[in-house]
Amino acid sequence: RAKSLGRGKICTYEPSMDEASRVRAELAIDLKRALAGNELELYYQVQNDTNTGGIVGFEALIRWNHPQKGRIPPDAFIPIAEETGLIIDIGDWVMRTACTAAALWRLPFKVAVNVAPMQLNHDLPRRVAEILNETGLQPSRLEIELTESGIIADRQHALQVVLALKAIGVTVAMDDFGTGYSSLSTLQAFPFDKIKVDKSFVQAVGTSVHAAAIVKATLLLGRSLNIPVLAEGVETTSHLDFLRGEGCDSVQGYLFGRPMPVDVVTRMIDDEKGSRPQGADAHNELT
Ligand code: C2E
Ligand code: MG
Ligand code: MG
Ligand code: MG
Repeated sequence: RAKSLGRGKICTYEPSMDEASRVRAELAIDLKRALAGNELELYYQVQNDTNTGGIVGFEALIRWNHPQKGRIPPDAFIPIAEETGLIIDIGDWVMRTACTAAALWRLPFKVAVNVAPMQLNHDLPRRVAEILNETGLQPSRLEIELTESGIIADRQHALQVVLALKAIGVTVAMDDFGTGYSSLSTLQAFPFDKIKVDKSFVQAVGTSVHAAAIVKATLLLGRSLNIPVLAEGVETTSHLDFLRGEGCDSVQGYLFGRPMPVDVVTRMIDDEKGSRPQGADAHNELT
């Protein structure tokens, strides 16, 4: 059959496109089952104070253990979850699971939860308030991470959502700072509690003078605006030395720890003797 089309180029190209969309459609169906079937899992990655090295919190990062395909990374299925609307149920599950875990930690570290753009349009503040209520987690221990792509669609509405979240008492971080197309105006309009410098800049500080300048400028900006800055993707001691020298508040990356399953994190916190989380109301739940 391929020969009848000449060289068969079109014939081999088109089926491969069909194949790609077939795989996506299959994943979308599988994802629906994944939620009910306990295939989704949250990992947690530690965040440390740059100066003391003490733990300040953990970011929850979703994992999908597909029964046939194995581990699928979030970048490969979160977009599908957004297209199909499944992100609303998955987002609820992530929020509830992360808050439940953090409420059980022996020390009151913060838990940071990524929120997809679509969640902003589905009653996010009410859902968050309910989950905090249900799980008993103190609102100040929850940090919500938003990317700029979640804000650009309807800035006015996004601002109302952020203000409502802050009214509940949760903090809001701007994730992947510097990768959006109007990061500065977003920073001007939104009362963020933290800026997370994107790992692409952090990881290039040793090899690109431009990346180093961008990280420095972001730290200066944070200082002027009185917003703490966290650097993500810290992999080496030279990354850390640079960030410490430039006054970065907190750090997250493989140098301090990979994302870990909840039982490993819980054990790590149990072993954390005498160390105290940073922050004004950090001692509230300690005896
Ligand atoms: P993100 O929120 O910017 O998360 C940081 C990503 O960097 C994570 O990738 C993390 O594993 C990775 N990372 C941390 N330290 C290092 C390092 O030192 N070096 C390198 N190379 N990478 C590092 P991950 O877990 O694959 O997640 C990718 C993205 O997927 C996240 O980026 C976030 O945008 C999204 N995501 C993850 N979990 C969720 C979730 O529960 N809900 C939503 N809506 N999005 C999520
Ligand atoms: Mg994040
Ligand atoms: Mg990020
Ligand atoms: Mg990212």
